[in-house]
Amino acid sequence: MSGIRLGLVGVGKIARDQHFPSIEATDGIALAAAASRSASVDGIANFTSLTEMLSGTEIDAVGLCTPPQVRYALALEALKAGRHVLLEKPPGATLSEVEDLVEVAREKGVTLFATWHSRFAPAVEPAWDWLAKRSVRRAVITWKEDVRRWHPGQEWIWEPGGLGVFDPGINALSIATHILPTTFFLTGSTLSFPENRQAPIAAKLAFTDANGLDLTADFDWRQEGPQTWDIVVETEDGGSLELSEGGKKLTLDGKPVIDEPDAEYRGIYRHFVDLVGSGTSDVDIAPLRHVADAFMLGRRETVDAFHEEPI
Ligand code: NAP
Repeated sequence: MSGIRLGLVGVGKIARDQHFPSIEATDGIALAAAASRSASVDGIANFTSLTEMLSGTEIDAVGLCTPPQVRYALALEALKAGRHVLLEKPPGATLSEVEDLVEVAREKGVTLFATWHSRFAPAVEPAWDWLAKRSVRRAVITWKEDVRRWHPGQEWIWEPGGLGVFDPGINALSIATHILPTTFFLTGSTLSFPENRQAPIAAKLAFTDANGLDLTADFDWRQEGPQTWDIVVETEDGGSLELSEGGKKLTLDGKPVIDEPDAEYRGIYRHFVDLVGSGTSDVDIAPLRHVADAFMLGRRETVDAFHEEPI
């Protein structure tokens, strides 16, 4: 095995769907071990906890694919043990704990990478490039999906720290904070909480900037049928940009210019290999800060109870 020996913690949906195949496809990194309370992975060393994995096998880095509520303690343990750490999104349950991890990584001289997978979607860099030379007047984010389809049986997303509809919504915010050539901030939000849950099933957000930007975001987890992950931007010079399907497609001034298959997690692992190689970290908390602001300014409304099986 050559390159970075990675141990992965939390063998759930995203580990199986994306991390395993993307690690396999990336030069300079290999999956050496997994720590799981319930699963075992063929062909590598298996452990039931991070503590056992750190003492039981040789690894250089730890990837955390657990829910955000348990991520800080695991990341802290791995960093203190001198391992590089890759965090699934969101990087933590609070802003302060993520900032603490940045400090620990710096003290230990290891890499900390807070991933935002949507930033690696194929049309995102071209969108950033096109917008970098322009001023934005208006932008509309519409992120609507079916929670039953994408999060079957996941109870943690409904608990405090699980973020509810912001679990996908933060992906849109990770793109917006990257491509919009301005620093924007929240002015208001309405959060719709199912009467039997601790996290919102829908959210409407409004943002502005020092130049009066009109940015809105509409997140909803109750969308059946076609799913919507779109960002539409109007520029001051009358131009328009549409980023659709979560960043796979780009349309500029009405003309389709990019429509490419997803390779987000390969981009994540290539970047992680580069970060470790150059001895640097990459932690941007801006998307999580906007979510925290949405909870701070949030007007709460109670909506129908959510049940895993529709009744
Ligand atoms: P998941 O299917 O529920 O898997 C999470 C895994 O974490 C569990 O299978 C479990 O693995 C482990 N775990 C450790 N402590 C846990 C706890 N207290 N409660 C529940 N699980 C615990 O979730 P996921 O969809 O993979 O999401 C994990 C992270 O990836 C989240 O932050 C999510 O936002 C992010 N993500 C998910 C997707 C997606 O499409 N699902 C996409 C991008 C990013 P063991 O049984 O092996 O210990």
